Amino acid sequence: MTAAVSSAGEAKVVPGRECGSCTLCCKVYNVVELGKAAGKWCLHCKPGRGCTIHDTLPNECAAFNCLWKTMPSMSMQWKPDQSKMVLTLHPETNNIHVVVDPGLPSAWTRTPYHDQLRGLSKTNMAQGHLVVVLVNEVATLILPDQDVPLGVLKPDQVVSVTQETGPGGGVYDVKIVTRRTTVDGQTLETASMSRHPVKSAA
Ligand code: SF4
Ligand code: SF4
Repeated sequence: MTAAVSSAGEAKVVPGRECGSCTLCCKVYNVVELGKAAGKWCLHCKPGRGCTIHDTLPNECAAFNCLWKTMPSMSMQWKPDQSKMVLTLHPETNNIHVVVDPGLPSAWTRTPYHDQLRGLSKTNMAQGHLVVVLVNEVATLILPDQDVPLGVLKPDQVVSVTQETGPGGGVYDVKIVTRRTTVDGQTLETASMSRHPVKSAA
């Protein structure tokens, strides 16, 4: 799976990609309208069978499709109930978020998934789509040639990467920006940076 992703706004369901027995998104995400926490099964879900409130679905659920449903190059082994990972595009950054089932937190390190996540990073980084793995709130940035632990990544934090080249070789500059709105409505940003030498040609 090395194909380029479309932007979030362009995503359409690939014909034939049905959720079927998969219900993993009903576990890994929070649902604001229901007060449901991430990482725990929704009270309305019958795992492996589906939602029991189809007629009164929260808007967040009705609008949701994971990348397996919208990205033609994602094979059956990436169906979330098999891979134990749900992939989406972050609505603001268009980064590729890989949300791992907390019941199998090592899912993303397995073969062939890890190599394919590196391939996804290599294909999409130049277009600004970073690959970020999340186990609960603990994030790892997947670069084409290495994994960078980011620690806890909150929803209001945004990751970006720029790549420098110089006589000593290339370096990835990884930046995490935190936005905060003050009581008088101003937006404040703080950022942390780290540098990571390129290990192989990306
Ligand atoms: S994770 Fe994807 S395939 Fe699974 S239920 Fe949700 S939308 Fe359907
Ligand atoms: S309301 Fe239905 S679709 Fe939404 S998280 Fe719960 S079980 Fe899933």
